[in-house]
Formats: sequence, C-alpha cells, structure tokens
Amino acid sequence: MKRFALAGNPNCGKTTLFNSLTGSTAHVGNWPGVTVDKKEGVYKKCKEPVEIIDLPGIYSLSPYTPEEIISRNYILDEKPDCIINIVDATNLERNLYLTTQLLEINVPLVVALNMMDIVKKTGNSIDVKTLEEKIGVPVIEISALREENLEVLMNRAYEASMKKRLGKTILLDSALKHLIQDVEIAFKGKQVDNPLFHAVKLVENDELEVKNHEDLLEIVRDFKATFQDDTFGSDFEAIIADERYKYISKNFAPTMKKKESVKEKLTLSDKIDRVLTNKWAGIPIFLVILFAIFHLTFSENFLFFGGLFQDVAPSFEGSPFEGLIWTDAGINSPGVILFNLLDCLTSWISDSVAMWLSEAPDWISNFIVNGVLGGLFAVLSFLPQILFLFLFFSILEDSGYMARVAFILDRIFRKFGLSGRAFMPMIMGFGCSVPAMINTRTLADDKERTATIRVIPFFSCGAKLPILTAIAGGIVQYFGIGNADLITFSMYIVGMVTAIVSVIIMRNTTMRGEVPPFIMELPAYHVPQFKGLMIHLWDKLKHFIKKAFTIILASTIVIWFLSSFAWDWSYIGGNMDNSILASIGKFVQPIFTPLGFGSQLAAFGWVFAVAAITGLIAKENVIATFFTLATCIIAHAQAGTLTINPEVVEAILSAEEASDDGVLEALAMIDATKITWPALISFITFNMTTIPCFAAVATAKAELPKKTLGRTILFWLLVSYITSCIVYVVLSWWWTIFIVLALFVLFGFAIHFINRYLDQKKALQN
Ligand code: GDP
Ligand code: MG
Repeated sequence: MKRFALAGNPNCGKTTLFNSLTGSTAHVGNWPGVTVDKKEGVYKKCKEPVEIIDLPGIYSLSPYTPEEIISRNYILDEKPDCIINIVDATNLERNLYLTTQLLEINVPLVVALNMMDIVKKTGNSIDVKTLEEKIGVPVIEISALREENLEVLMNRAYEASMKKRLGKTILLDSALKHLIQDVEIAFKGKQVDNPLFHAVKLVENDELEVKNHEDLLEIVRDFKATFQDDTFGSDFEAIIADERYKYISKNFAPTMKKKESVKEKLTLSDKIDRVLTNKWAGIPIFLVILFAIFHLTFSENFLFFGGLFQDVAPSFEGSPFEGLIWTDAGINSPGVILFNLLDCLTSWISDSVAMWLSEAPDWISNFIVNGVLGGLFAVLSFLPQILFLFLFFSILEDSGYMARVAFILDRIFRKFGLSGRAFMPMIMGFGCSVPAMINTRTLADDKERTATIRVIPFFSCGAKLPILTAIAGGIVQYFGIGNADLITFSMYIVGMVTAIVSVIIMRNTTMRGEVPPFIMELPAYHVPQFKGLMIHLWDKLKHFIKKAFTIILASTIVIWFLSSFAWDWSYIGGNMDNSILASIGKFVQPIFTPLGFGSQLAAFGWVFAVAAITGLIAKENVIATFFTLATCIIAHAQAGTLTINPEVVEAILSAEEASDDGVLEALAMIDATKITWPALISFITFNMTTIPCFAAVATAKAELPKKTLGRTILFWLLVSYITSCIVYVVLSWWWTIFIVLALFVLFGFAIHFINRYLDQKKALQN
C-alpha cells in the first residue's frame, strides 16, 4: 500500500485533514503540539487504498524536541511515497519555510494550501498557478475543516507518487551555490540517500548531521573557510535561514493578493488579544475564567436570588425537583444537576438490586450491593462533573485561548525555571496525567521536561475530584466550616503551589539549567468546533468507562474481599475490624501519624491508610474504598458493636433514598475515627501529591529519561509526605507557620550558597 505522510507546522490543520481523509477521530486542538506521535489511517477514494500518516508539527527539519525528531526521521528513513506538505495559507511566508527544506529531499511532494476558507473570508486570494510554477511541485487549495477540494488534493498526490522527484534547493539562487554543490558532491561520493538535503544540513551545522558525518567535517570546514557573509559572519545556520526567508518573500509571497483594507486594519484576533494578553489584565482574567468554570461545575448555589429566592422556593416545596435542581442555598449549577440526575439513577438501581437479593444469603447480597455496585457507582457518579470540566477546558483550548495563557504565563514561569510551553501539559493534567505527560514532548530541554513530568500529578486530575468533593462535603457538614466549593478550589490551588515550589527547588538543585526560549506561534481564534469537542468528550467518556469496568471494578472486588474475610478465610460479614484488610491497614497506619491520619485515630482509623494505598492503583479507588468500608461501619453502628454519633447514623439512614455523593460515607468515617479536619485536608493533600495511578507511572517511565523513574517515585513520596505534614501541622497549630517559613528561608539560603560555591568551583576549573 502506498504511504502518504502529512507534514507541516504545528497547528496548520494536519490532524483535521487526517481525520477528514481517514474518517478517524484523532484529537484536534488549537494548540501547537497536540499531535506528539505519528498516527496512521487509510484513505480509500484513490485508485487504490492509501495509508495516511499524521506526523507531529515541525517548523523546520532541524529538530530540537523529541516530537520533531519523530517527524524528521520518518520523512528521511521511512521514505513515504509522497509528502503532503500542509501550509496554513493565513500564514503563508512562515509556513513555506519548511516547504523550502522539504523540497531538498528526493521524495514526491505536493503542497496543500489549507485554511483557504479563512483566507477567502477576509477577502484575500492566492495566485495558485504562479505559486505552483515558482515552487515546482503541485499546489492545491483546500479547507481541511470544510472538507473542500480534498479529492483533488489526493488525486494529485497520487499522480505525484507515481513519479520520482529529485531534491532541489532554492539556495542555488544565492552566494552559497558553490559551497552547497561542493558538499553535495562529497555526499554523493559516500553513496548517501538525499545528498542535497544532507549537504545543506551539514553546512547549517545541524547537530544530528555533524554527529552522523564526522568524516566530512574536515572537508566542509575547508570549503567554508573561503566563504564570508557580511551580516552573519560564519554563522551558517543564520545565513541559510535568512536566504530562505529572502527567497520566500521575493518569489512566493507576492502570489498572495491582499485586499486593500485588510492590510492595515487590526484583525478581530488582534483586538481580542489586546485585552486577553494584556500585561496587567491577562492573569486576573484567566483566574476569573478558571473560577467561573469551577463554579459552573461544582457549585450548589450557582444562582442565588437572595430574598426573592427565599420567597419563591417554599411554594415549590415537596416537588420532586427539590434537591435535584435547587437546595435552600440556591439553584444548583449545571454540573451538580447532572450529577444529581445520575445519582438518582444509580441509587434506584442499587435499591432495586438490594430488594431483589433480599432473600439471598447475606454474603451474596453484601458482595453485589456493596462490593460491586457500591464501589462502581461511587466512581461513576462523578462522571458528569469530570466531563463538564473537560468540556470547558476543551473549549478554551480549541478557541485558541489556552495558547494565549501560555504566552502570558511565560513571564512568570520563567522565574520558576520553566518556559510558557510547560503550561499546556500542566493544564492537561487537570484532565488526566497520561496525555499530559506525553504532551511534554513539545519541550525541548530534557531537564525542563523531567521537572514538568514530575509535577504534572500535582495538577489534580479528574479521578482525584471525587476525593475532594466527598471529603470537602464531609468537612462542611460535620465541622460546619467553610463551604465545599471554596475548599475544593483551595485544594486545587494547594496542588499548584506544591508544583511551583517543587519546580523551583528542582531547577535550583538537581535539574539546574537555562530556561529555553519560548517560541510559539499564537494560533488564530476559532469558534470551537462542535464535532471536535464531541470527539474529545467521547474519548474521555470511553476511557473513563473502560477504566471503571476493568481496573476499578477489579480493585473494589479485591477490597471487598479483603475486608469481608479474616486470615483464616472465614466470612466475617460486617465485623470488619478482624479482616485481612484491617490488619494490613493497621500495620501501615503508624507511618501516617505525623500527617494526622495515623495512630492517633480511634476505631477504624486504618481505613485512611488503606484508601491511600488502593489509590496507587487508580485514584478513584480512594472513594470506592471509603464507600465499601463506610457501609460496614454503619452496619456496626446499627448492630451496636461500635458507638458512633446516633445523629450521624440517623442522617445516613434517612438519606438512603435521597442523593448520596460520598459525603455521608465521609461523615460516618469522620465520626467513627474521630479524625480532625486538618487531618482530612492533609489526607486530601497526600492523595493529590503522592505517586499517581498505575497508568500515569507507566507513562512517566516511558517519557522520562532512562533510569530516572526510581528517583521520580522517591520524589513523589517525599513531596506528598512533607507537604501533607506541613498542611496538617500548620492547620492544627497555626503558629507553626512561622517555623515552616523560617525553615524554608534557611533551606533557600543553603541552596543559594551551595550553588554559588559550585559555580565558583566550575569557573575555576575552566
Ligand atoms: P495540527 O496541529 O496541524 O494537527 O492542527 P489541527 O488539525 O489540530 O488544527 C488546528 C486548528 O485549526 C483547529 O482548531 C482546527 O479546527 C483548525 N483548522 C484546521 N483546518 C482548518 C480549515 O481548513 N479551516 C479553518 N477555518 N480552520 C481549520
Ligand atoms: Mg495535530
């Protein structure tokens, strides 16, 4: 089967074209670097089926980042039958830079001028015929998004793939002509494929090329000695880049006819950017947007009409929608309403199953209702809110706003030792650490990459959300402090602060190095595409459901089993304190004493240790474990084997039919174990910052430099232990904040002086 590769700058529409051609649903994002690995699909409308390969975006064929290396190697080594070079026609000159390099390779090439719909809308036009003559390969206008002219493109690509094409370079038009030709002859003598391409790259001093062809360096140096440029001296990379741009603006760019008025006027994008990327307003606007998203997703008093509401609400009292759509606090946010709806459904299923099993032996109904359904539903019930949050982030990303945020944050990030590029993987971390870690391939510097991968789990992912919501709800109801909304939001902030502090420490100790310059093109604003958003959501939904029915289901069953049987394999029913799980939990429990949820707890105090450990498999397990264990605690209380506050039991029992969001389970847990609220916050902090789930650890192993996983795991353990300890101690005894701060300052000074000493020593050695 013939293979056509899609190559082009980041964000020029490669993935959109790939999806349109192959009918697949790869992730499209208005953010450079969304495709970080190559993807394959089949196009069926040519004379024969053709394999299409979507490559990561590249600005040039001199790669800096791992994803760029993937693209270059594919093009050179795998020898596709044709390269479809996608060019963002709204940004013609910039995009043709890569084209001038692709031309140098001996491979059939066609240029697809994408985003023509936008070009035409602004009243501009491109003289395709002339452009085609000048470039010397077929040029086709398309719109990947509106699927315009795609068949023409593919037919011309197919035709092109039937013939051989020899590389040629626009540099022959410059003073470099003889130099390039001489080096090319040297390469031809070595029988290398693509001699012209390698010759140009070697003259450019391309790192990979210099490494691979050391034998030719000597000759090239001699050739070069005779050459001197007026502006750039002997910086050949700059000379060649300059030649390429000059050639493009002289020969290719004039084919673009701009409408008179468009030339001066600020585009709408520019106008919006004046506000959104404003030096002062930019960050506050971003924070407001972030808070609005959380409010829409989690708030129980999303709309509050004050006195008016209080007047109207009673007249609806007793309607089935009370609690579902509003509470005394106000009208629920859309996220909460969806949550409640799903909850009604799952409670109804559990109740029906329990009824149906009422005749069955105790352990069977216990196994199905608590072991299987309980844990599973506890996890599934958070799906609406996770999807909601994800939808909002997708909208921000697809509209082009996230790229702006990276741009505004670059100035601040730089102070911490990261570039603005690191922002995207971090924000993706709020969804799931796995794609976020893969996205760090857009970072050029290895140390920056490692530091970013390590802190990604601190950006609390969707799976950790249930822990937050349930425990925050429990704290509010049991201790009557604060509101759940605010606690959740603050916990996200705690995660981010932990990330910042640990990046600063890493970049000043084990990961020292320069912050790479921030080069990212700001994409144009788009109205987010409905289809694209749905693809994102569907991916997320599939992933979540698959996880719920495999790994989480399996772990809840194991937990149920371990908590219902003793070491001698006898079924102990509700008598959980004698279970296998209890003895494991009690063994580990003392470790957590400095964090507030260790030995100081009363009956069942070990459940926190157990929940934290099961969370290492998947974070949803923490809440699923709570659910399973809380049911047992309640059974104990009813049997009179454990004294817990009768009001709590009452509340839990009476609420059985109404909504349960894990909060009641948290209440039972708090009452039985006598845990304090600072310890609960510390428990959340621990789960947020410790070793992430299995899947994330496996991804980290693949993405981190070799043999650094062990150190990274140690890092996660240390950070979570220290941070939770600080949280617990400071919240319990507020004045300890001064001791903590003093220690931090001391630590900071120590690092500073050690670094100074090391730098001096290094300077002396040189
Ligand atoms: P990639 O990084 O090259 O894979 O680019 P994507 O396929 O992810 O697309 C980047 C953005 O450009 C997305 O927001 C697309 O919706 C948008 N886009 C792609 N092709 C077109 C097009 O032909 N017209 C318009 N208006 N937008 C497009
Ligand atoms: Mg892409």
